[in-house]
Amino acid sequence: MTTTAHNAQTAKTWRNAIFRMGRYRSVLAITAFSILMSGMVTGVIMSVFWWEGVDVLLKSLLVAAIVPGIVAPLASSFVVKLLIELEDLQTQLLEMVNRDPLTKVYSRRYLLDCLEIEPERTLRSNEPMSLLILDVDNFKSVNDCHGHINGDIVLKKIAQVCESTLRPYDVIARFGGEEFVVLLPNTPLPEACTVAERIRENVANATIGLTSGESIRSTVSIGISPFIPPDPKCINLLSRADKGLYKAKDNGRNQWAIAD
Ligand code: GH3
Ligand code: MG
Ligand code: MG
Repeated sequence: MTTTAHNAQTAKTWRNAIFRMGRYRSVLAITAFSILMSGMVTGVIMSVFWWEGVDVLLKSLLVAAIVPGIVAPLASSFVVKLLIELEDLQTQLLEMVNRDPLTKVYSRRYLLDCLEIEPERTLRSNEPMSLLILDVDNFKSVNDCHGHINGDIVLKKIAQVCESTLRPYDVIARFGGEEFVVLLPNTPLPEACTVAERIRENVANATIGLTSGESIRSTVSIGISPFIPPDPKCINLLSRADKGLYKAKDNGRNQWAIAD
C-alpha cells in the first residue's frame, strides 16, 4: 500500500469511528484523550526536567487537565460536526449517482459498474447469471394521450412492480427512457424465463392511477440472455438480451423472448 493510500485508509477509519460514535460521544472521547495526553506530557516534563517538589507537580497536573478540558470540547465539537456533515453529504452524493431520480431504482451508471464486476465474480463462484431487458410497450402513446406527468407515473409504477417481484440481491436499473435492465445473479436461463414471466404478468395486472383519477394498465416486452463467458463488461450479454427484446416486440409485445 502506498503512503497516500495508507493515509487515506487511516483517515477513513477515523471518520468511520467518529460517525459510529456520534457527535457527543466523539467529543467526549477526544476530550478525555487530550486530558490524558496533556497530563502525561506535563507529568514527564515536570518530573524529569523541572522537578520542584510534589506540590508543584500536582498543581501542574491540575492545570494540565483543566486547559484541555475546556479547549478540546470547543475545538473538537466543531470539527466533529463538520466530519459528520461531510459523511452525510457523501452518502447523499453516492445515492444521487447510483439511483435513478425518477423511479428510484439503480442508475445506468451503477448497472455498468455491476456489469464490470459480476463476470469475474460469477466465474470465480462458478454460478450462472442472466440478464433481462424490459421495454414499456407503446409508451409514446401514454405520453401522447395522458401527458408526460402521467407517463412518469407509469414508469414509477412499473419500476415498483418489477422491484417487488425480484429478490433483494437482483439488480434493477433504469437503462434509459422507458427501458430497464435486470441483472439476475445465480440464475440459470430457465429460472430467468420464470422471473421474466412473473414480471410480465405482474406489470400487465397492475392498475396505474393517473392524475385525472382514471386508471390505466401497461405492458412490457422482455429480452432474456444467459451469461456466456468470456464476456468482460457483459457486452455480449446486453446485446443478446437486446436482440431478444426486438424479437418479443416483433412477436406482438407483452411477452418475453430469448435471442436465436
Ligand atoms: P415500443 O412498444 O416499440 O417500445 O414503442 P414505444 O412507444 O414505447 O417506444 P418509443 O421509443 O417510440 O417511445 C418511447 C417514449 O418514451 C418516447 C419518449 O418521449 C418517452 N420517454 C423517455 N423517457 C421518458 C421519461 O422519463 N418520462 C416520460 N414521461 N416519457 C419518457
Ligand atoms: Mg424503448
Ligand atoms: Mg417502448
